[in-house]
Amino acid sequence: MTSTTTLPAPPEVDYPDLGLYIDGEWKSGTSGQPVLNPATGETLGEVPFAGPADLDAALEAADRGFRVWRDTPVAERTAILHRAADLIRARAGEIGRVMTAEEGKPLTESTGEAHRAATLLDWDAEEARRAHGRLIPSGPGETLSVHRVPIGPVAAFIPWNFPAGGPMRKIAAALAAGCSIVIKPSEETPGTACLLARCFAEAGLPAGVLNVVFGVPAEVSRHLIPSPVIRFVAFTGSVPVGKQLAAMAGEVMKPALMELGGHAPVIVCPDVDPVAAARACVRGKYANAGQVCTSPSRFYVHSDLYDDFLGAFVEASEAVRVGNGLAPGIGMGPLASSRRRDAVHRLVSDARDRGAEVLTGGSPVDGPGYFYPPTVLAGVPDDAAILSEEPFGPVAPLLRFDDLDEVLARANALPFGLAAYGFTHRADVADRLVRGFEAGILSLNHTGGSVPHAPSGGWKDSGYGREGGAEGLDGYLVTKRVSHRLAV
Ligand code: NAD
Repeated sequence: MTSTTTLPAPPEVDYPDLGLYIDGEWKSGTSGQPVLNPATGETLGEVPFAGPADLDAALEAADRGFRVWRDTPVAERTAILHRAADLIRARAGEIGRVMTAEEGKPLTESTGEAHRAATLLDWDAEEARRAHGRLIPSGPGETLSVHRVPIGPVAAFIPWNFPAGGPMRKIAAALAAGCSIVIKPSEETPGTACLLARCFAEAGLPAGVLNVVFGVPAEVSRHLIPSPVIRFVAFTGSVPVGKQLAAMAGEVMKPALMELGGHAPVIVCPDVDPVAAARACVRGKYANAGQVCTSPSRFYVHSDLYDDFLGAFVEASEAVRVGNGLAPGIGMGPLASSRRRDAVHRLVSDARDRGAEVLTGGSPVDGPGYFYPPTVLAGVPDDAAILSEEPFGPVAPLLRFDDLDEVLARANALPFGLAAYGFTHRADVADRLVRGFEAGILSLNHTGGSVPHAPSGGWKDSGYGREGGAEGLDGYLVTKRVSHRLAV
């Protein structure tokens, strides 16, 4: 076990009261589960679980809420969403502290995420005004038009890694499109979701438009998805769960948006500065302790600069300050749960057992909380699980390559197709990467995250549908053809 660094004591967090938000009211559910602080293992609160009657109440509320919201003028809807965004921005400090306490990421990341959630809401609120239909040329006496109308109440399921950004992607798009929503954020990070719901309530969102429930995930999805009230299913999470929910939605002929896992390849070409590229990769790798679906997770480095890249990568990894994300100066917090820490360590141990060299890190940090240090692996054999299973943690396998076509084939060999990264200054090489990568999101010469004004989403097993950008409302709208003849 690695030892913890001595750090200043983190501030106390005022953890909010948790509840189910149904039909504009807070309810206490039928059972519950403790919410743990992953940095200390201490209990922050108890998340209430919805029973079948609570879920039915949420469905009925979403049904009623949809009729009200659908018929609310778009300018009024937009104004309410912007007011909610302003409240989130004003409370970003409080939301960030709660998020760090329940998920672990450093306070700068969580406060930034709260601000980005507000920006995302502002973007989608304006997209509500741009969800245009069109007029199609037709004969005299007939108007032929295309309308885009809200699909209906949405059921959404969100994981724990972005406690504000994750729920907001679904809520903002659904509400901007004119839909109501029943959302199940993660039971591991319910405080942030409750604070967001309060902002919507205070902004004047009518009752029933947003309903927030928690519970046993499989029971909640089995209850909501087949309900005739629900018209669209949106999920972010792992590929296996996504496939289950997509199949369930398919059984009842409901469209779905699936934002699933990835295993993002990075190709570092021989024309770049290896130290600058390594530092950019390290910044992306350890954001949210690697628990990001687009996290760079397989680093293919050209043999000409492999040694220099590796040296700089290890040095920058060792400089990351690990500790309680509430304390100042922390670069990386704990993993979100003991389950995640154990899963990451299993992948590292498997690689080591198969002959990989651990250049830094490689064992859980001693002490309370679920800390795992930045870990760099070299000489990882092809059959190591970490090269095919999404690591979802602070582990970087470094691999060599010599030929671009051959490395692109290795990069594309997995069933995932979410994010990919390339480092090159050559236009012809960049062109081959842009054409060659099978991924929905490609970043060249950086590892920065998503933005509200451009679409994000997967390819292959990483899912379908897009969030953000001009495409962000597509799944939540139905295209209706209307031909109107003036005479019968
Ligand atoms: P998990 O697959 O058990 O859970 C992921 C999320 O899905 C959780 O929040 C959970 O509440 C929800 N979920 C699980 N079963 C469900 C069901 N039947 N119905 C509705 N919701 C359900 O795994 P985990 O240990 O929390 O995370 C592990 C893996 O999940 C990671 O390795 C990663 O692949 C994936 N993951 C992906 C994302 C992403 O952003 N795409 C986020 C978190 C986790």
